[in-house]
Amino acid sequence: MTADPLPTGSTIGILGGGQLGRMLCAAASRLGMRTHVLADGPDPPAGQLANRVSISCYNDLEILRRFAKSVDVATYEFENIPASTIDTVAGFCQVRPGRSALVASQDRLVEKSFLRDIGVDVAPFVGIENRSELLDAAKAIGFPAILKSRRLGYDGKGQARLRTVHDVERAMNAVGNKPAILEQHVAFDLEISVIGARAVRGSKVCYNPGENVHENGILRTTRVPARISNEIENRAVSISETIMDMLDYVGVIGVEFFVSGEELLVNEFAPRVHNSGHWTQNGCAIDQFEQHIRAICNWPLGDARRHADVTMVNIIGKEVTTVQELARKSDHAIHLYGKSEARPGRKMGHVNKISPTSGG
Ligand code: AMP
Repeated sequence: MTADPLPTGSTIGILGGGQLGRMLCAAASRLGMRTHVLADGPDPPAGQLANRVSISCYNDLEILRRFAKSVDVATYEFENIPASTIDTVAGFCQVRPGRSALVASQDRLVEKSFLRDIGVDVAPFVGIENRSELLDAAKAIGFPAILKSRRLGYDGKGQARLRTVHDVERAMNAVGNKPAILEQHVAFDLEISVIGARAVRGSKVCYNPGENVHENGILRTTRVPARISNEIENRAVSISETIMDMLDYVGVIGVEFFVSGEELLVNEFAPRVHNSGHWTQNGCAIDQFEQHIRAICNWPLGDARRHADVTMVNIIGKEVTTVQELARKSDHAIHLYGKSEARPGRKMGHVNKISPTSGG
C-alpha cells in the first residue's frame, strides 16, 4: 500500500509484548516512530517502552480492528501469533513480514517442505500423524532420530530423541500424540545462524553468521565470528537470501543452520528478529532491531558490517542477580528486559561481551 518511506511520527503496531518487542520499540523510538504494542498478558516487557499498549487475547476481533486502525504498519515479534490475527489486521494496514513466512514457520512440516522445494538442504524428514506411521518413518529415516511436534514448538520443547524402535511410544507421548515430523539426527560440528533483512523493494543485507550454543534447548551463547570457512559463510548467506526472496520477505529473519564438515543444512527460520542476532546491538552500526524497523517502514536498509568481536550470553532465570558483577566488567554491554519474576529458564536479559575485531 505504501510506496513512500513511512514518515517519522508514524505508528508501528507490534503483535506480542516480549523482549523482542521491547527492543523493537527502542529502535523505533530512536527513528522518531511511535509504537502500539498488543500483548496477551499483564505488564509485557515491551509495554514499558511502547507509546501505547493494548492487553487482549489475539482473537478479539474488535480489539484487533481498533489496534490495526491505530497503526501505519504492523509487525509481530513471535511466530505463534494465529494466522487469522494477521488476516484481521491486514484488512486495515500492511503487515510485514507477511502471511506466508508466518504460516510456514508455524508448522515444521510446511517449513521443511518449503525449504526442500526451493532447493535448500535440510535433514531427511517425514511427516507423521500417529504411532504406526512413526514406526514406519523411523525405519525409513534410521536411528538416531528426533521427533518434533509440527506446531507450537520452540526452544527445544515438544521434541524427543529416538535411539531404537523401543523409543516410539515414549516419543509419541512426548509430543502429546499430535502430528509431528521425524528428522534424522544430525551429528553437527556446530550450529550457526544468519540474521538477514530484506527491504520492500527487494534489496537485502545479512550480518556475519553467529555460532550458537544451546543448553537444554535454550540458546546460551552466540559468538561472532563463527568458526567457519569463508565458503560456508558465503553459502549460508546465499541460502538465507534465497529464502527471503522466495517468501517475498520484508523485515528481519533468523535462519538457523547445522554445519557438519562442508555440509550445511537449514534447521529452521524465524520470521522475526532473533535471539542469536542480539550481538548486532554492540557489534554493528545498525543492529537487527533498527534494521527491522527500517525494512517494515520502507526505509533504506542500514550497514550490517561487523566492527567488533562479540560473545552474547543470555541471562537466564536467577542469573539476573549477578548483574552487578557483570556491570563491573567495562566491556560487557548489559541489556535487561524489565521482567520482575525470574522463573527457571526465563530469558531475563543478555550481555554482549565486546572485543576489538579479529576479522573473520
Ligand atoms: P529446534 O526446536 O528445531 O530449533 O531444535 C532445538 C535444538 O535441538 C537445535 O538447536 C539443535 O541443537 C537440536 N536439534 C534439532 N534438530 C536436530 C537434528 N535433526 N539433529 C541434531 N540436533 C537437532
